[in-house]
Amino acid sequence: MSTLSSGPVFRGHFFPMFGFPTRTRFLYHKRPLRWPPQYGIIDRELDIAISQFAPGAQSIKDDKLHTAVGVVEFVPEAGNAVEGPNPLGESETVGVCRRCQALVPQPMPMGTCPFCSAAQGSDGYRLAELTEPPGFSTWWWISDRAEFRGGFEFTPRALRARMGAGLNNYRPHGNFSIDAGSARIYRINDNDGNDFEFRKLDHRHFWMVEEAFDSALRDLPAAEQRRIQRPSFDSATPPVRRALAAISNTDVMAAGINVVPVGLCLNPSKPEAKAAWYSFGFLVRRAAAVSLDVNESELDLGIQPIPDFSTPFAPPTARIFISDSLENGAGYSTFLGDPNRFEELLRFVLGQARPSWTRSTPPDSFHSPLVTPPHSHDCVSSCHRCLREFGNMAYHPILDWRLGLDMARLALDPGAHIDLTESYWFDLVARIAPPYFGGLSLQARTFDTLSGGVDAFNNEAFILIHPLWDTDAANFRPEVAAAVADAQGQGFRVTLRSVFHAVRFPYE
Ligand SMILES: [Zn+2]
Ligand SMILES: [Zn+2]
Repeated sequence: MSTLSSGPVFRGHFFPMFGFPTRTRFLYHKRPLRWPPQYGIIDRELDIAISQFAPGAQSIKDDKLHTAVGVVEFVPEAGNAVEGPNPLGESETVGVCRRCQALVPQPMPMGTCPFCSAAQGSDGYRLAELTEPPGFSTWWWISDRAEFRGGFEFTPRALRARMGAGLNNYRPHGNFSIDAGSARIYRINDNDGNDFEFRKLDHRHFWMVEEAFDSALRDLPAAEQRRIQRPSFDSATPPVRRALAAISNTDVMAAGINVVPVGLCLNPSKPEAKAAWYSFGFLVRRAAAVSLDVNESELDLGIQPIPDFSTPFAPPTARIFISDSLENGAGYSTFLGDPNRFEELLRFVLGQARPSWTRSTPPDSFHSPLVTPPHSHDCVSSCHRCLREFGNMAYHPILDWRLGLDMARLALDPGAHIDLTESYWFDLVARIAPPYFGGLSLQARTFDTLSGGVDAFNNEAFILIHPLWDTDAANFRPEVAAAVADAQGQGFRVTLRSVFHAVRFPYE
């Protein structure tokens, strides 16, 4: 396993006029004859190119369908374009965890996720060997024939940004800690945890994923398919498994919560807490975009698990991070990484103050529309008026504006009430509890102060709790302990259900 240099990994393409490297990658859909190529190419940002590399991932240009099937690097040689050797040559091995979103540079070869202890496996923690491809190619003979006939369905994979090394000077402020500076950000397409198997073609420096070839071939009518010669692989060169990555050293700000009150669980490997971190991040990002008058897509968001030694169980907690998505970005993340400015931003999220960098924004212009009808009534989780936009589609099922506001309050004040008496939760529980328990054929019942439902026949009780309340009995909040004791005192076996779960899975 070789390792890439720790500096920015810019490969290949220079705009000769400006002389600085770009993150653009070509998709070659014809053989380039000259360098630089003038036609037969589609150029895309590296992260877009990475997200679109998947069997069946098509691009359309001039009514032709183009499917990337492999990786190639064309280089100039006496004015001609020739294939450079070993386009997959350099790689970097990292650990990635689907449960807690960790990215582990220089991971141990064996063992579990160092943050959340997830076991190795495609759904938990795994090692991936990353390559930043220098260029992509279609199978040219298919590209020549594949007409676009409508019905284009492919949606690129959303790549989650993950943060590697960088930032280690966190300063506490309010109940958050914050730092800003340069860090290494990874966007990885690991084929849903399976990686891609690349095979070298005979007599060429073209490495192909055969599954992607088969998928591209199926876009042709049967008669045309028979005219395409299948690639012949170099049997002497073993295949390599790689995940594709866009890696950049970029300006980032990151913020976490210092004091996690007793009875709460912010461990990002728990679905509710992961949802809270992402909701917090996307809420803050939207407030930043509104107040800075920029498009949300100019700011990238991710979360990063961190160890938490403040409890005996040492679960991880997390941070959100925001980076400028544009290369040579305007420096928004550095700007927001200032502790006082981040506090101002949180106060804007909560309707308490107008950020000093805005001129005329009313203080409650962001918060009030969230917490008043019609939104507060219509939106039980998230919608386009609060947290959803096209670019965060992969997160839509977990986003929740109520959790985002809770986290913003907690980041300012360790004594913030993170409970169901907060009006936006109180109203929601009052509305959803009766139909939820009714739908499960349970009798509605209150246990101490909490809503519940019982299955008297089986002596089972379900109690609705706040999504961030710990379900571990060793860390129960007083409300939970009292409700559980009440139900057990009546002879019920108790199951705790978060409101988050009840809203999303009304029949479980
Ligand atoms: Zn993990
Ligand atoms: Zn909404």
